[in-house]
Amino acid sequence: MKRLLILAAAIASAFAVNAQTYPGSKPVSIVVPFAAGGPTDRVARDLAIAMAKQIPGSNFVVENAAGAGGTIGANKVAKAAPDGHTLLLFHIGMAATPALYRRLPYNALNDFEYLGMVNDVPMTLIGKPQLPANTYRDFENYIRANAGKLNLAHAGLGSASHICGLMWQSALQTKEAMTTIPFGGTGPAMTALIGGQVDVMCDQTTNTTGQIEGGRVKAFAVTTAKPLSSHKLLKDYPTLQEMGLKGFNLTIWHGLYAPKGTPPAITKMLNDALKKSLKDPDFIKKNEGLGAIVVTDKRMEPAEHKAFVAAEITKLKTAVDAAKQYAD
Ligand code: ASP
Repeated sequence: MKRLLILAAAIASAFAVNAQTYPGSKPVSIVVPFAAGGPTDRVARDLAIAMAKQIPGSNFVVENAAGAGGTIGANKVAKAAPDGHTLLLFHIGMAATPALYRRLPYNALNDFEYLGMVNDVPMTLIGKPQLPANTYRDFENYIRANAGKLNLAHAGLGSASHICGLMWQSALQTKEAMTTIPFGGTGPAMTALIGGQVDVMCDQTTNTTGQIEGGRVKAFAVTTAKPLSSHKLLKDYPTLQEMGLKGFNLTIWHGLYAPKGTPPAITKMLNDALKKSLKDPDFIKKNEGLGAIVVTDKRMEPAEHKAFVAAEITKLKTAVDAAKQYAD
């Protein structure tokens, strides 16, 4: 019995979290629920560098856990030890997937500690380099003329690229939908687009600006309500609203999460580090270069972050329930 008690105490102390010594020598893993080389991965890698600067001696690493529109990675973090060593960086999918998947293995509001929001990222509508169109108008004509023959790449049901593709096709009111091709993330989808294996994609500017600038894909429009006039490259592309798609407005937000039960001293330390990262000139510059805007408002606070996501879930659930288009 005594030996059992000693063993239990040893196990308990092995799992005990000491906020004074956190994070110690053990890395803090930021789980990205999509493949490496994509836009969420880009944001996470820049954030990992910024966060590590704020917590002396820490080592933030990025781990990719792709699949099912981001829900595999989110579930992994929901079930991880709440010791501050496993975090999740997720985008609008955090709110879209509870609406689209009726049997999620986790609860987006109850199974996480909310650590604050990171940035807002516009999307761009892009096509393979071999497309004959060079302007949005030509592109739309080409899509209509080839209805039912084209492929649209996305990062899984409920991903940002999937939502954007659906919104765009519904705004176009084309008779025949494009065939959608899911990937583990828009990193690999981008490779397929550049290679001409898929025709069209809607993706965050954190993945597309470099490819557009390098002439490896064709860009046709941005998804925001207002033109991106302060960005040296993206200012040249019209908004979908300007192109006649009334009310089209989509911006992708990212937030940082820890498993439920992570000690308050650790979540506070992480939120403080996040808020300082959002003021880090290097992090701001990297974001701006990629067309993203770091959060400067109250959404950087956990309570506001959670309230924002709760409102988004309600909004998206209403739309999905009305359309009865579920992912499961
Ligand atoms: N851009 C992707 C999406 O459509 C995710 C990614 O690969 O980062 O949600």
